[in-house]
Amino acid sequence: APRKAKSTTKQVENDTKVEGEEKEDKAAQSLLNKMIHTSLVNTTNQVEVLQRDPNSPLYSVKTFEELRLKDELLRGVYDMGFNRPSKIQENALPMMLAEPPQNLIAQSQSGTGKTAAFALAMLSHVDPANKWTQCLCIAPTYELALQTGKVIEQMGKFYPEVKLAYAIRGNKLDRGTKLQEQIVIGTPGTVLDWCSKLKIIDPKKISIFVLDEADVMIATQGHQDQSIRIQRMLPNECQMLLFSATFEDSVWKFAERVVPDPNIIKLKREEETLDTIKQYYVLCNDKDEKFTALCNIYGAITIAQAMIFCHTRRTAGWLSAELTKEGHVVALLSGEMTVEQRAAIIERFREGKEKVLVTTNVCSRGIDVEQVSVVINFDLPMDKDGNADNETYLHRIGRTGRFGKRGLAVNMIDSKHSMNILNQIEEHFNKKINKLDTDDLDEIE
Ligand code: ADP
Repeated sequence: APRKAKSTTKQVENDTKVEGEEKEDKAAQSLLNKMIHTSLVNTTNQVEVLQRDPNSPLYSVKTFEELRLKDELLRGVYDMGFNRPSKIQENALPMMLAEPPQNLIAQSQSGTGKTAAFALAMLSHVDPANKWTQCLCIAPTYELALQTGKVIEQMGKFYPEVKLAYAIRGNKLDRGTKLQEQIVIGTPGTVLDWCSKLKIIDPKKISIFVLDEADVMIATQGHQDQSIRIQRMLPNECQMLLFSATFEDSVWKFAERVVPDPNIIKLKREEETLDTIKQYYVLCNDKDEKFTALCNIYGAITIAQAMIFCHTRRTAGWLSAELTKEGHVVALLSGEMTVEQRAAIIERFREGKEKVLVTTNVCSRGIDVEQVSVVINFDLPMDKDGNADNETYLHRIGRTGRFGKRGLAVNMIDSKHSMNILNQIEEHFNKKINKLDTDDLDEIE
């Protein structure tokens, strides 16, 4: 019996570990996306708006002036380089700033202007003469809270009477301290403590509650519960706003529990498509031959910028060293790097400082680098059972063919197994992938 008990514990530990890693991965991805989005992402899709009261007129704004913001805030907005509201801001801002306040659930991919929108809503709602907390914003991690806080600080640059406090681990305050900052941003655990046990914030005086990154939030054990407990302490007339980059059923269920009578705004992700992409494969015997083939491709066609995907950190490291020896200017994105280091590398690549980005899949998941015209699968994407990972394939390749551009994808095949994966991909997308002869590359130019 003891032996059995032991192995059960171990199993539980393992499961928790996987879950923990996944969550960390989600939060890290999200942070990375926030750091690299220094401008709005491009999208041609239309915003969908579902009004709580379908009979009320739908307001949308094309300029920030129409919102009648305080001068201090309008200056802040322009100082950040914003000329006009983003697609979701056109609808979301009038709803958030309406009198009486309206609740909102908004979903759109990272980089579409959600954070800027709720930062502006919070700043416009506070009364700076009141020295108590009026706006509460919760984020899934310490780093994400800091990142969002930065946006609020930047936007409120010309409005110094409004102060911001961070309810995050390490920020210890004594029980009963009366916080004077009008806006508090933090993680659910600490915010809950400050509202209940420590009585640092009076939840009854909160008039805006923002829940950011709801999809990342619910991936963390306990956060969902803590968020709901915070929400339950707030007055009924408090405005509730929830934001998420994705909207699975689980996020939706959670959103409905914390945001009563919501307006809903959705902006679909730009579809990824293989239609505008020429896909090829190259037959090789081993990784050295794959490298030679890669060099031949580089020698034959003009490649503005390429992303090269490898299965392991080790291959990625080796390949980037080899390419460097050949005189290429290479950026390497690898798993052991911090989010800050990764963000810096992606940013440099975006600016065109390097022409080749070598990366492993784990690192590149969820990153949008749209200007790339060529994608090389040095190793094909596969799941943990060794089958084709079609979704990842589409995500890697599909980004090259958006906004009317034509992309090129080359898959390196060096075994029966990788050929098998390629066939699975062809079958899944019902598109033939042609063989490329790297000694005769005229056809792909
Ligand atoms: P999200 O929260 O959806 O990820 P952000 O609010 O962080 O999006 O915006 C993404 C990027 O676009 C940021 O660098 C932000 O400064 C910028 N941005 C946001 N709104 C506008 C706007 N109206 N005009 C120009 N840039 C904007």
